[in-house]
Amino acid sequence: MNYSEQSLLQFPAALQDTDPQPDLSFVIPAYNESENIQNTLFGISEEAKRLKKSFEIIVVDDGSTDDTFDRLICLGDELPLSAIRLSRNFGKEQAMSAGLMRTCGKAVVIMDADLQEPLSTLQCLIERFEQGYDVVYAVRAHRDDESQLKRFLTTGFYRLLSLGSECPVPPNARDYRIMDRRVVEALVALPERNKFMKGLFSWVGFKSCGVPIELRSRQAGSSKFSLRKLFKLALTGLTAFSDWPLRIWTVIGFIFASISMLFSFWIVIKTLLWGVDVPGFATTTTAIFFLGGLQLISIGVIGEYLSRVFSEVKQRPGFIIAEEYKSNSEI
Ligand code: UDP
Ligand code: MG
Repeated sequence: MNYSEQSLLQFPAALQDTDPQPDLSFVIPAYNESENIQNTLFGISEEAKRLKKSFEIIVVDDGSTDDTFDRLICLGDELPLSAIRLSRNFGKEQAMSAGLMRTCGKAVVIMDADLQEPLSTLQCLIERFEQGYDVVYAVRAHRDDESQLKRFLTTGFYRLLSLGSECPVPPNARDYRIMDRRVVEALVALPERNKFMKGLFSWVGFKSCGVPIELRSRQAGSSKFSLRKLFKLALTGLTAFSDWPLRIWTVIGFIFASISMLFSFWIVIKTLLWGVDVPGFATTTTAIFFLGGLQLISIGVIGEYLSRVFSEVKQRPGFIIAEEYKSNSEI
């Protein structure tokens, strides 16, 4: 008989009263958030104590180069906290996956470490969740704080993503959300490595609804998403959740083949009727450059998909855990 079985026999009543599964698990991805993490975690803890009987906080340090992880260990004396340090910066999507894997709460909340999503909105999410939804996600009420260019690109991205998609990703949905245990288990079971979580959240289905929220500006530090990172994420999203960029080239190919056949008929007839026409250099070069460009784009698109297939085939893990810490504090 092992130790836990023994103690169950000795103190059955006490143990039956204590439910080991917390009501709520928080997953917080953090990358160089040393300045924010303390305020965020105390804020979450205050709000969670008010709303639920028990909770746990899981912070995933996504390869920070500052002292985020050391701070987490210090905070563990006061908070029911687990900290996971990834071996390098794997990106927010992987950090969220790592956190979700370690949760055991009846419901799970994903939240950023910079408190841009006001904690006061947590109650609203939980209330909607308790009305019978499996997922309640926050939606950005507006994007007035962003540049015209970023807004234009974001709108374009969501339009492209929803083209022919079997499970459209709600535009402007945040990762900030509350999910039922079943949803988390479905997400954790997905084997793919190139993760676009907003797409996966929609793909797994379940009864979902959005709640509009006003974002605040960051408490400290700056956004960890450079334009390059955003572009990479957008490509991952597009290649993982739509195949029209691959298939569209068949249609374009047919259109151009038909046009060029008609054009060659026209040239033959023209030559027979009016003789050989030497000029036409501009048309020929333009056509060559245009078609050459189209071919390169189509090869590039195939390359994007192929690179994802390549990385899936290699079967490397999406992230590597370097260190884990669990506090003894309980709530
Ligand atoms: N983040 C992360 N890994 C990264 C980039 C970001 O874990 O490579 C975390 C970051 O610490 C924050 C959340 O993801 O908790 C959202 O990042 P950020 O606030 O920079 O994004 P934005 O709000 O600008 O979209
Ligand atoms: Mg932020």
